[in-house]
Amino acid sequence: MEVDYIVVGFGLAGMAFVKTLEEHHKSFVVFEDTSQTSSNVAGGVYNPIVLKRFTAVWQGDRQLKEAMPFYEILENKFQSTYDYKFETARIFTSIEEQNNWYVASEKPLLKDYLDDQITAKKYHGFISDFGVGKVKKTGRIAVKALLEDYKNYLITEQRILFETFVYEDIDFLEDTVSYRGIKAKKIIFCEGYGMHKNPFFSGLPMREAKGEIVTIYAPDLNVDFLIKSAVFVLPLGEHCYKVGATFNWKDKTSLPTEEGKKELIEKLESFVKVPYEIIDHAAGIRPTVKDRRPLVGLHPDYSQLAILNGLGTRGVMIAPKIAKELYHHIESNDLLDPECDIIRFQKASIF
Ligand SMILES: Cc1cc2nc3c(=O)[nH]c(=O)nc-3n(C[C@H](O)[C@H](O)[C@H](O)COP(=O)(O)OP(=O)(O)OC[C@H]3O[C@@H](n4cnc5c(N)ncnc54)[C@H](O)[C@@H]3O)c2cc1C
Repeated sequence: MEVDYIVVGFGLAGMAFVKTLEEHHKSFVVFEDTSQTSSNVAGGVYNPIVLKRFTAVWQGDRQLKEAMPFYEILENKFQSTYDYKFETARIFTSIEEQNNWYVASEKPLLKDYLDDQITAKKYHGFISDFGVGKVKKTGRIAVKALLEDYKNYLITEQRILFETFVYEDIDFLEDTVSYRGIKAKKIIFCEGYGMHKNPFFSGLPMREAKGEIVTIYAPDLNVDFLIKSAVFVLPLGEHCYKVGATFNWKDKTSLPTEEGKKELIEKLESFVKVPYEIIDHAAGIRPTVKDRRPLVGLHPDYSQLAILNGLGTRGVMIAPKIAKELYHHIESNDLLDPECDIIRFQKASIF
C-alpha cells in the first residue's frame, strides 16, 4: 500500500489532522490502539476565558474561529449534533472577585465574552452567595461521540488499523518511509501521553497531568449552563452532569481512583446542595507541556516524521487550528508559530 500520510493516534489531535488531510484529498492510514483515553473522557468544554484569573486564553479567540466551523462541518458530515452551546456561570466567592470581574468585562479581549452584569439571583441546588458572572459563547463538544462516528466512517473507508504502531519497524527511505508494507511520505505522531514511548520525540518536555471526572445524575438540579466553582458541573441533559476535573502530576495511569473520586465529591458538595448519584467515573492523561504551548513540527533529523501533541487542557479549541498549521507547514513550507514549533526545544539537545 502507498499513502501520503500515516497518522498514529486518533484522539482530538489525530482526528483534526485526518480531517485536514481529507479536505486536501490526501491519502492516509490511521493507527489507533486505545492505549490513551484523554480525548474520550474529556469534558469537551470550549471557553476562551481563564476562569481562575478572568484573563483571555492564549489565542483563544483565533482558536474558536477555526474550531466552530470545524465541528460544524463534522456535524454535517456525520448528520449528528456534537456542539452543545451554553453559557458558563462563574460562582464568585468574595466582593473582590466581583470587582475583578467588572474590571475584566471592560477589557477589549474579554468584553465580547464576559457579561458585564453580575447575576445576584439565588439558584435552586447550588450556593452562589456572592452571585455569578456569565461567560457567553461557550459550550461543549461531545468528543467521544464524534470520535466514535469518525472511527466508524474510517472503518468503512478501510483507513484505520486498530493496532499499536511499533517505532522500530520504520524503514527510512530517501524521502519517504516504509512501515510493514505501507509506503508513506510522512508519519504524523498524535499519541498524546503515548509520546513518552516514541524514541524520536520522547525527549520533548511533556508534563503529563492526569485528570479524573465523574458523571452524576441529579434530578433536582435544573441547570442548563455550566457551573464553575471548585470544580465544573457540566450539563449533559436529562439531569446528568459531568463533574471535574482533578489534576494529578504523579500518577501516570489512566485508571480512575478512589482518591480522585473523593476529591471531586468534596469539591462538588462544597457548593451543590441537592442529592445526586454517581453513574460514571473515568480518567485520562492530559498531554501538557512545561511552557503550556503545543508540540508541533517536523523532526529536525528525520524530515519524514512530524508531531502534533501537547494540546494540554484545551484540546477541543486548539486541535483544529494547529492541525491546519502543521499541514500547511509540511505541504507549503508555511512557517509554524514559533511558540508552538518543537524547534524551540532543539537548543536543549533533546532530539
Ligand atoms: C479528565 C479530563 C477532562 C478534560 N476536559 C477537557 C475539556 O473540557 N475541554 C478540552 O478542550 N480539553 C479537555 N481535556 C484535555 C483534552 O482531553 C486533551 O487536550 C486531548 O484529549 C488531547 O488529545 P490528543 O489527541 O493529543 O491525545 P489523546 O486523546 O491521548 O489521543 C492519543 C491517541 O493516540 C493513541 N496512541 C498512542 N500511542 C499509540 C501507538 N503507539 N499506536 C497506536 N495508537 C497510539 C491513543 O490510544 C490515543 O487514542 C480533558 C482531559 C482530561 C483527562
